[in-house]
This record gives sequence, C-alpha cells and structure tokens, in this order.
Amino acid sequence: MAKENVEKNNAEAAMVKMEPLLSQLEYKCLGRGAALLFDYDGTLTPIVKSPELAVLSQDMRGLLKRLTKRYPVAIITGRSLADIKKLVGLKKIYYAGNHGFEISGPKIQLMSPQAEHVYPTISKLCTELKNGLGHIHGVFVEDKGLTASVHYRRVAQKELHDLKNIFWKMAKPHVNSAKIKVTRGKKVFEIRPNIKWNKGKAIIWIIDVIDPKKELTPIYLGDDRTDEDGFLALKDRGLTVLVSERRRKSNAKFLLKNVAEVKIFLKKLIDGVNHAYTRTPRSNAVE
Ligand SMILES: [Mg+2]
Repeated sequence: MAKENVEKNNAEAAMVKMEPLLSQLEYKCLGRGAALLFDYDGTLTPIVKSPELAVLSQDMRGLLKRLTKRYPVAIITGRSLADIKKLVGLKKIYYAGNHGFEISGPKIQLMSPQAEHVYPTISKLCTELKNGLGHIHGVFVEDKGLTASVHYRRVAQKELHDLKNIFWKMAKPHVNSAKIKVTRGKKVFEIRPNIKWNKGKAIIWIIDVIDPKKELTPIYLGDDRTDEDGFLALKDRGLTVLVSERRRKSNAKFLLKNVAEVKIFLKKLIDGVNHAYTRTPRSNAVE
C-alpha cells in the first residue's frame, strides 16, 4: 500500500477511536469552554533517549499557540520551570515545573515554601548519586533544584541491578527520615520533597486561578505514572486522556495512542471550536 494511503488509514483509525472523546468535547467544551492542561514528555513530544532531546516540534508549537488564543493552556511537568519554559517558549501559557512545586504564568507565581526546605537534602543526594553512579555508563543524574531525576534509559541491561542497588542504598536514608519520596517513571527515578503536593494538586491550584467560577471543562493529557494524580484530581470535573500505545489500568477516562494522535485531537479541537463559533455564536453566549 502506498505510504500516503497507510498514513490516511492510520489517521482515520485514530479518528474512529477518538469519537467518544470528541463527542464529549462537543458536548462539554465547545459550548462552555475548556481549560487545556498537558504533561510534556511523552504527551507533547515522543519519549526519547535523553531528556535534552525532547524538543517540541514546530507543528506542536503552532498548535499550542493557536490553542492559547481560545483557551487557557497549562503544561505540568517533572522538568524544572526554567527548562520547560525554554523548551516550549510560548507566552500566555501556565507552566508548572518540578511536578508543580514551581508554577508561573500570566499574573501568577508560586514556589512551595515547604519544598524549599528540602532543597539542601536533594542537592546533597544528587552529589552523592553523581559520585556513586559515575562508573555506570549512560546514567544521568539531573538536579532540578526542588526535585531531581535519575534517568537510566541508556544504561545497559546488565548494569541495571547494580544501578538500582546503589540508588536505593543512597536514597533510602532520606526516604526513611521522611524528607524525600521516590517515584518511578519511564526508566527514571523521580526524587521529590515528601510533602503532600503532586501534579493533581498543582492542576487544581492552576484551574482555581484561571477559572475561579468553575465554568470551564478542564482537559488533562498525560502519559506516565505521575499523571495519574492529575487524572484522579479531575475525575469528577474534567476530561482525562492517557497517551499510551498500550491499554493499561489508569484513572484517565480516554486513551490516545501517541503524540501523533494528540496532534489530531488538538487540530480537531481547534477546527471544532472554529466551526462551533461560526455556526452557533448565540448558544455559546447563552451558555
Ligand atoms: Mg510524561
């Protein structure tokens, strides 16, 4: 089959699967308005070998820019605030870095004071991990200030056992003293202050700022375990979308397979909105 036909068929198949999501969209969002919230890695960009390679495509940046003209848009990520702002480079977006410990956007700025207290512990642990794991090829200890990540996607299988042993030996005392907590992501250990703050709480915090009257439908798209907090937080309030090639147990209501399907969904959202605005301006105003 010719390449363009395969692509066309794939796109059509994707649309069929997206139908339930899109009908919810038309019902809930096109009339009332929506707030769009995204994870970054694996959701807006494909998962890559090293975090610095996860560059936002021009296509996706263009779509995000068009979306900001219609909706409040937020990006919530495990990356540092400075990093995500640089990678996306768009104004009018609410950015939440370090799993939501740092938030900045049009007219808001938040840094969790509790999290700041843990900063010296995390910084010290990062130095220990860099030294202790230095002999393992491909490991990357990323000190992001308020949180840290240990990436091991590029580490050879035979060295994983060694890596995990050393990691836990160094991290365990701080976990036991309840200063930090460690969560697992896709080939990454996430080190965070042990305080009751996560992507879900950050999402609710942002939505309360941008939509205090609770008029909009929040839509959250994410691909990894930390996104489950976000899906759970919006369980009764919004549309939640897991981006995953495989079906798996999740708190999200809908599934998109990959970043390509996310793009189709966003295009549809932009086109659908344009259509709704041209066709039924009055009903939108009444709602
Ligand atoms: Mg992700």
